Amino acid sequence: MKLKYSSKINKIRTLALVLIFAGMIIMYIGLYFRNIEWLMVVFMILGLIAIGLSTVIYVWIGSLSLKAVPIECPECGKPTKMLGRVDACMHCKQPLTLDRNLEGEEFDEKYNSKRYWKEQENEQSDQSK
Ligand SMILES: [Zn+2]
Repeated sequence: MKLKYSSKINKIRTLALVLIFAGMIIMYIGLYFRNIEWLMVVFMILGLIAIGLSTVIYVWIGSLSLKAVPIECPECGKPTKMLGRVDACMHCKQPLTLDRNLEGEEFDEKYNSKRYWKEQENEQSDQSK
């Protein structure tokens, strides 16, 4: 079974990388508008914002990595880190869960949302009434 899902940390890292490139491309485009000063300035500022944002994301990844739970992947045996209740192995993309109740369940991003668990709780309390 091939999962399109990739580890969250990897995903965020890709986003930061894309932002850096986007920022550089935007600034490069800005150079084409040398003659229109305000337009060039707008492009430069947009480019700087994108690069600044990616820096923020990199710092954020750093702090996320500290919070992530280091585990050994049961599939490939390599050490990986988990964020949230469900995540995927960084190396083999094997879906992982910290929640025993979810073991064997189909992998779903919804298990990470607080809303999903709230709804589950509400359903349970409705049933007990
Ligand atoms: Zn693995």
